[in-house]
Amino acid sequence: MKKVVKFGGSSLASAEQFKKVGAIIRADKTRVFVVPSAPGKRFSGDIKVTDMLYDCYASAEAGEDIGEKIEAIKARYNEIITGLGLKLSLDEEFATIKKNFESKAGSDYAASRGEYLNGIVMANYLGYDFIDAATVIEFDDHGNFNPDKTYPKLSKVLAKHPKAVIPGFYGAYKDGKVKTFSRGGSDVTGSIVAAAAGVDVYENWTDVSGFLVADPRIIHKPVGIETITYKELRELSYMGASVLHEDAIFPVRQQGIPINIKNTNAPEDAGTMIVENTCIRPEYTITGIAGKKDFVAINIEKDMMNSEVGFCRKVLQVFEDEGICIEHMPSGIDTMTVFVHQSEFLAKEQSVLKGIRKAVHPDVIDLESDLSLIAVVGRGMRQTRGTAGRIFSALAHAHINVKMIDQGSSELNIIIGVRNTEYNQAIKAIYNIFVEAQL
Ligand code: ASP
Repeated sequence: MKKVVKFGGSSLASAEQFKKVGAIIRADKTRVFVVPSAPGKRFSGDIKVTDMLYDCYASAEAGEDIGEKIEAIKARYNEIITGLGLKLSLDEEFATIKKNFESKAGSDYAASRGEYLNGIVMANYLGYDFIDAATVIEFDDHGNFNPDKTYPKLSKVLAKHPKAVIPGFYGAYKDGKVKTFSRGGSDVTGSIVAAAAGVDVYENWTDVSGFLVADPRIIHKPVGIETITYKELRELSYMGASVLHEDAIFPVRQQGIPINIKNTNAPEDAGTMIVENTCIRPEYTITGIAGKKDFVAINIEKDMMNSEVGFCRKVLQVFEDEGICIEHMPSGIDTMTVFVHQSEFLAKEQSVLKGIRKAVHPDVIDLESDLSLIAVVGRGMRQTRGTAGRIFSALAHAHINVKMIDQGSSELNIIIGVRNTEYNQAIKAIYNIFVEAQL
């Protein structure tokens, strides 16, 4: 049994947090490959080291003196090093970093130093080997992760190190120039290392005990999700639930490696297990609820629409030509509705309307703004009768007007459109009927 363990910024923000991480790693000999983020916020209002680095680099690019900013970043690491009682000096590293900033090594290089330095500290603290991610994770000329180059190289290197720290968030182009993933990208590194090493589990340690059935800003202390499939996760993350970087799923999923989301501040909590498939029945009919606000519905009506060949295509073409992404498209016999993001639509509203008129000569085009979409997701829905019925009676009891319903053919989710003003109320009603009523 082998595990890759990735720790997020809040798990590594201070010496105190590092000690928790050390105890977690030492408690389980199978935690052999460690992927750290850069130190995050120690308290609300604090600044992440990654953000300090971006800011410092911007000053360097503007030709300003960066001495003080470099010292402030160094102080963050020295506080950790002293707190852990390590005999380690990063002075030389910082001298190199300052020089490279001044000679404009690039903002990706700048940001990556947060993970790089934290990796050095972590390896020293644990007595693990240090592997610079720039030497094992490769990007192609378009800046995309290059699996064909990375996996053979990374697997070979990992095989030589029984226990190692590989910093998250970055790799390099063929020529060695550092390149980062998008923000939160250490999750992706962890997944790539897990796939390359062929481990049994990828543990992703953060500051929450896994996924929650609903947003805690709306539901007071919602219950946690024990097991979720990759597909369910995709539906929920798309609709706004965020714990894990989206791109972190692909590498491990391909290899059938489960991800376990765990809480550094409560390591005894089971957290959430993300798996390809499972026969474990979810505790409740639904696995989770997520949603997004601020959509516009464009309702198009035309008599005999359903017999007009190419009608939908012509309408969709208008949106494509305007570069607007379509979220949902419920339709009736002589009506068709297109849901789009309000922010994307507003600036192009008049040209879209004109385009639709010209393309399909509708009888009526009607717009409704300030709508929300709520996704109720669950693999358990397929085996259960009446899920949709329960949702709608809960919403009716809460006096919420349902604007749209869309059930995917996979029976994995039901999407409901409501007014923005009724969004929180709707989520509460759905949570209550499926979870609260069963507790
Ligand atoms: N430190 C980087 C960020 O703040 C990457 C990460 O934490 O995953 O986005």
